Amino acid sequence: MAKIILTGDRPTGRLHVGHYVGSLKRRVELQNSGKFDKIFIMIADAQALTDNADNPEKVRQNIIEVALDYLACGLDPAKSTMFIQSQVAELCELSFYYMNLVTVSRLQRNPTVKSEIQIRNFEASIPVGFFTYPISQAADITAFKATTVPVGEDQLPMLEQTKEIVRKFNSVYGDTLIEPEILLPDNKACLRLPGIDGKAKMSKSLNNCIYLSDTEEEVRKKIMSMFTDPNHLRVEDPGKVEGNPVFIYLDAFCREEQFAEYLPEYQNLDELKEHYKRGGLGDVKVKKFLNAVMQEELTPIRERRKSFEKDIPEVYRMLKKGSDEAREVAAQTLSEVRASMKINYFDDEELIRVQSERFKD
Ligand code: ATP
Ligand code: MG
Repeated sequence: MAKIILTGDRPTGRLHVGHYVGSLKRRVELQNSGKFDKIFIMIADAQALTDNADNPEKVRQNIIEVALDYLACGLDPAKSTMFIQSQVAELCELSFYYMNLVTVSRLQRNPTVKSEIQIRNFEASIPVGFFTYPISQAADITAFKATTVPVGEDQLPMLEQTKEIVRKFNSVYGDTLIEPEILLPDNKACLRLPGIDGKAKMSKSLNNCIYLSDTEEEVRKKIMSMFTDPNHLRVEDPGKVEGNPVFIYLDAFCREEQFAEYLPEYQNLDELKEHYKRGGLGDVKVKKFLNAVMQEELTPIRERRKSFEKDIPEVYRMLKKGSDEAREVAAQTLSEVRASMKINYFDDEELIRVQSERFKD
């Protein structure tokens, strides 16, 4: 069976370091591993509109931002098909059929959607499109026959929902769709990177992000102002590393050899953590180290972005080409789905023959 990746991002803002460690970095590694037959990377504008219906301009503006972030991180159009969701109309039709296979109560149980409804104060007025976006995500994944979906932990319920739809579809209409596997980051700290404010998730909607395209100075300022352990007031105080975003970011970003370069008095992160826990290590010193570590990772990304920004029409051409290609693949899956559901009336000679027999006397 072909090994196929599908993943993507909502164009609701520029991409941040949570996206990077949760999914983007892995995608680039998988792309360059040569182990996959096809890689589809989707800019989910239609999904972004489910909670931004009154602000299409925001979505429109952010498509190019996300595309530039992709290229800056090393996604390569020669190896990965990058496309825009709304340009593949077949996805809507698939969603429409899948809606018949999911109950309202099943959607209401989705924990990610539940917390997103809370964040957006949607309680009494949830747009139907937003409520059903896990179904549309199943359409996105299955349209490309994806076997592997590299995403952050918040996407687990979406993958569960997709698998249920695949099983249900295949059992009702016969084997047609492929059941995908989620690929979560190996590093625990990357599953759900917290915000710089200490909130559980760095998220465009929560305004607590370090963006991949932030300047060196913006990154430094954000790191130096980061939430840490609120009880670690003086340098001598013992501090907590669990749940402390500065240490979680170090878990996500730092490599052992960076100690020799930037903090030679420690061998590794465990030693640094031990000192913080004992007391006698100030937040500023740890934050300066984190800044050095993160700038090392972000500087080449920022520089590559600058060079892609010089030819914006070329980026749109790349997305158009990717969208045309994606549409062809989705159309093929849709025709198989229609055949399985027996709604391919005009291609079905057997149907026409049987109906002719029926009306002969
Ligand atoms: P929004 O607030 O608009 O939902 P978002 O910041 O949650 O934006 P998405 O576009 O929904 O970003 O997510 C894109 C991908 O990035 C998904 O695979 C998601 O799991 C991953 N991701 C997003 N935020 C984080 C995070 N803080 N840590 C790890 N992975 C993340
Ligand atoms: Mg999200």
